[in-house]
Amino acid sequence: MTMQAPTLQNSKTPATMCTENGCSSVAAFSYVWPWGAPGACCQAHRLHVQQRSTNLDRGPINFVAIDPHYVPPITRDERTQLIAAKMSVEQDLADVKARSAELYAHHTKSTAEARRLATLNAELVSQVGDLKATCDRLVSERDAARADTATAQLELERVKAMLPVDPQAK
Ligand SMILES: [Zn+2]
Repeated sequence: MTMQAPTLQNSKTPATMCTENGCSSVAAFSYVWPWGAPGACCQAHRLHVQQRSTNLDRGPINFVAIDPHYVPPITRDERTQLIAAKMSVEQDLADVKARSAELYAHHTKSTAEARRLATLNAELVSQVGDLKATCDRLVSERDAARADTATAQLELERVKAMLPVDPQAK
């Protein structure tokens, strides 16, 4: 995990940090050493900084309070970048909306198609049932007709046997 520099609330501006050795507090004051070097310190290190200057006979230091809520006005470059970023986000959003409308339409179409196929399937299953019933009926009618024919054949044989022999037929 990388340590992020503390930032001011609602701002990307990194907070100024206390420049005293080993201190990781956000600076509350900025100042300039009598010899010109700039510095910043937290509330707790203000006295240390002043003491050092006094020890060096450099007199009082003018501490300027850093307003933690100060947000520097955005520059022309930053404004241009923000506008570009906003336009890019708006374009992305438009793309996402278009894509989701496309997916929704596709989903609606697929759902309708699935419903149509389910109906068609039910219809075909019902037709297969009807055809099977017709087939069963025809098979049993055929079997009955065969049985009738066999009976009639036997009857014919029996009657023929009872007839006197035709002298012509030899
Ligand atoms: Zn400090």
